[in-house]
Amino acid sequence: MPFKVLEGIIIAAYAVKANYGYIYIRGEYSKAIDIFEKTIKDAYHRGLLGKNILGSDFSFELKLVKGAGAYVCGDETSLINSIEGKRGFSRIKPPYPVQRGLYDKPTVVNNVETLATVAEIMKYDENIYSKMGTEKSRGTKLVSISGDVKLPDVYEIEFGKGTLKDIIELAGGTKDELNFVVPGGLATSILKYDEIDVLYTYEDLEAAGSSVGSGGMIVVSNKHDLVDILLNVSDFFVKETCGTCFPCREGNRNIKEILLELKKKGYKEKYKKIIGELREAILLAARCGFGQSSVNFIYSLLDKFFYEEVR
Ligand code: SF4
Repeated sequence: MPFKVLEGIIIAAYAVKANYGYIYIRGEYSKAIDIFEKTIKDAYHRGLLGKNILGSDFSFELKLVKGAGAYVCGDETSLINSIEGKRGFSRIKPPYPVQRGLYDKPTVVNNVETLATVAEIMKYDENIYSKMGTEKSRGTKLVSISGDVKLPDVYEIEFGKGTLKDIIELAGGTKDELNFVVPGGLATSILKYDEIDVLYTYEDLEAAGSSVGSGGMIVVSNKHDLVDILLNVSDFFVKETCGTCFPCREGNRNIKEILLELKKKGYKEKYKKIIGELREAILLAARCGFGQSSVNFIYSLLDKFFYEEVR
């Protein structure tokens, strides 16, 4: 896999005539860092990186940059700031990175999965990738399944060939009775145990009220306390917001306070109403995807599992 990512980066650089590239990895991921350091060194040794690659007139230098642990650096402009040695704050868009990005130069930012896919697509004369999946969800997706499944791992799934239920079965099924699934990481809305007969495609998950998101699927059994889960997720968003936008920073703090009150006093319908309004405000005013999606999980869990007695 690291060579496939590297190949994709070199192909993308050649396509846009870029002479400098960076692989950005969170500092905590020491295993991935070691692997990519070795891969880059090896590629320089073989003449696949550096000046006049394989005797051509194309030169490309690649450097590995370790992040300092900020989740928000998943936003492309925060990541660019971090590479420049600045704090991982997002930038106002436009200008977009392709217009003015790293060191004010036009910059292409892609995740490693996309780049690895580029290398795979280029391997064949015929574009077999576009023949896989559905019209709106082409090809395959790497789904990282964690939580209460027997075989948590990364699985390559062809879009449209199975449901969320099938993917859970592929991962060995659940350890205990299923309660809900987070299809694409904590930025996506949950789907309840009786909503998982949905095809794994962008369009089907969207129609079901959630999304593919990052492909980080979390499976949750009925052995967990829902309020503790809500508080845990809320705490994550409070700690990881970069704090630039007032609604994202204060809104997420307010949500945590409401959830603490919920834990102490029990559920009240007004909590869901206020959190729903905060979600709208954050969605309208947040500068980056982190804020825009920070309440999806919490709101959907409240909406699907919490009701006042009178209701
Ligand atoms: S939305 Fe949140 S994380 Fe994104 S820039 Fe604004 S404050 Fe920072």
